[in-house]
Amino acid sequence: MKKFNDFIWETHGIHAGTQQDHVKHGIDRLEDIVDKAIAANHPSITFIIHSPRLTSFRYSVEMDTNIKFIRGNQSYLNYPKRIANLREKYGDRINIKYGVELEWMGDDLGLQWSRSKIFQAEDADFVIGSVHFAPEGLPYDGSKEEANELLEIRGSLEAYWDGYFNEMIQMIECFGNMIQIIGHIDLPKLNVEMPEALVNFENSSHPLANKFRTLLEIIADRNLSLDVNMAGKFKGVGVYPIQNILRRANELQIPVCVGTDTHHVRYYGLNFKESLEYIYEAGYQNYVSYSKLIPEKRTIFDDHDLKVKYTVLNKGIEMLNQRLTTKQRRIIPDFSFGGTYSEFVDIYKNATGMGDYNAIRIRKSDKSITISDETPIPSKDRVKGLFSEHLDKPGVISSLFNTLASEGINVETARLKSNNDGTAVAFLTLESENGNIKNAIEFINGTDVELFNSLTYKEDAVLPNYYRDGIYLLEMDGVELKLALGNKVILTRHDNAPGVLLVLLSALASKNINIIDFRLGKRNKTGYSALAVEGDNIIINNLLTKLGPHYYEANLIEFHSM
Ligand SMILES: [Zn+2]
Ligand SMILES: [Zn+2]
Repeated sequence: MKKFNDFIWETHGIHAGTQQDHVKHGIDRLEDIVDKAIAANHPSITFIIHSPRLTSFRYSVEMDTNIKFIRGNQSYLNYPKRIANLREKYGDRINIKYGVELEWMGDDLGLQWSRSKIFQAEDADFVIGSVHFAPEGLPYDGSKEEANELLEIRGSLEAYWDGYFNEMIQMIECFGNMIQIIGHIDLPKLNVEMPEALVNFENSSHPLANKFRTLLEIIADRNLSLDVNMAGKFKGVGVYPIQNILRRANELQIPVCVGTDTHHVRYYGLNFKESLEYIYEAGYQNYVSYSKLIPEKRTIFDDHDLKVKYTVLNKGIEMLNQRLTTKQRRIIPDFSFGGTYSEFVDIYKNATGMGDYNAIRIRKSDKSITISDETPIPSKDRVKGLFSEHLDKPGVISSLFNTLASEGINVETARLKSNNDGTAVAFLTLESENGNIKNAIEFINGTDVELFNSLTYKEDAVLPNYYRDGIYLLEMDGVELKLALGNKVILTRHDNAPGVLLVLLSALASKNINIIDFRLGKRNKTGYSALAVEGDNIIINNLLTKLGPHYYEANLIEFHSM
């Protein structure tokens, strides 16, 4: 039997730091909690904040204290800034995530209010949609008295739950792409019983059972994930949701995320392992967490090698998703696994094998990314092309391409490597017979001599080893690139014609963006480029929007997953 992890990548994590706003949730100092997580050796911590409610949606305890101001508005508005400050303060010591628990308050003012709250939390890693309040103005998770009042209004236990599920479905339809996760799906059990028709919803013909089955199918079809929430266990009513629901969710391939939904630092870290045992019992072998709205796969087992493989998988998922529109990102990709990753074939339903090819391929719509942590073996084939030794600074590669283009020479493939001593080497293969390479070399030796130590065209040469240890982008859409990933990578798909690449390189040179590593590939008339770069995101993204119609795709990929 494999060992479960002691740590979880929480999604519905700790509610904290609402300060003097007097919200009933989360009053602790954020720093204290981060310190506690670091002391426990946790690689990450997840904060979550409730979106502020309208005044008409209040718990009776709040009305009794007669606090009239909008609940938690100030702390909500300040939260992104405070999280950013925390990230700066703690740096590499811990990965800090933060998400929003978005309140459902109906489809009129409540919906517009919620939509505006999304903009006030632009940098959030994820958004959970939760129903806490009935349209009757009474909470599901307030006092027993409030629940009984609602039960009386609705007339029966079945009607009570039916109303809650109607609101859930309406929330999912109205929130659309604003949310990634459904919060505590059987929350009302906190204060009222679960009727038999719901507990055994799988086999029941009761309309409530049918309603609930529909709800789960909607969640599956929309690629949302389900919050497995330990607060229910903490409060003595059992984990949200019950095992029957979770088993069905697994059959429907709904991803789960785990969290303790803790409201006080003294309970931070409680029930971590139990949450993994709980999802395992329902048949899950993994769960998801989120960075910048993109799901990351997490193993439930304490197995170092397996975690390394998940790191590679997550980098691939991030790369592929950042090539897609926001809407496409929600679709769960297809996977292929080969070599040491083959064990994933059994974990991911619908995954296919790739034999001994030691890599992960992630596909969605017409795009794919192939990735591995195995360092490529240098080819022993004799090559023909242009070898360069030059200064490792912005603009040098651009200058080389500039001269080649001026002679009508199109570069077919390229590889670049920094020597980490202020110099770099490159090897370019050129489209044959399409220009005068001798003129180009003479020109550079005449005008750019201080940038280039050596520039020679060789036939029948041995290719030096350009590979170092790292995680490699092996292919993009099946086209070989073999780029070692850095923190930031630019991927393009473009018309493979003379001068097109010069546009990108000149754009980067114009803002002093340094190219650390560079690979070119092509298929038919389409060129592919992958560049590891250093520089400011906003500047790079701005450049990439201006490359012109010969670029079919140009994206800056950043890595947030760990
Ligand atoms: Zn909640
Ligand atoms: Zn919560």
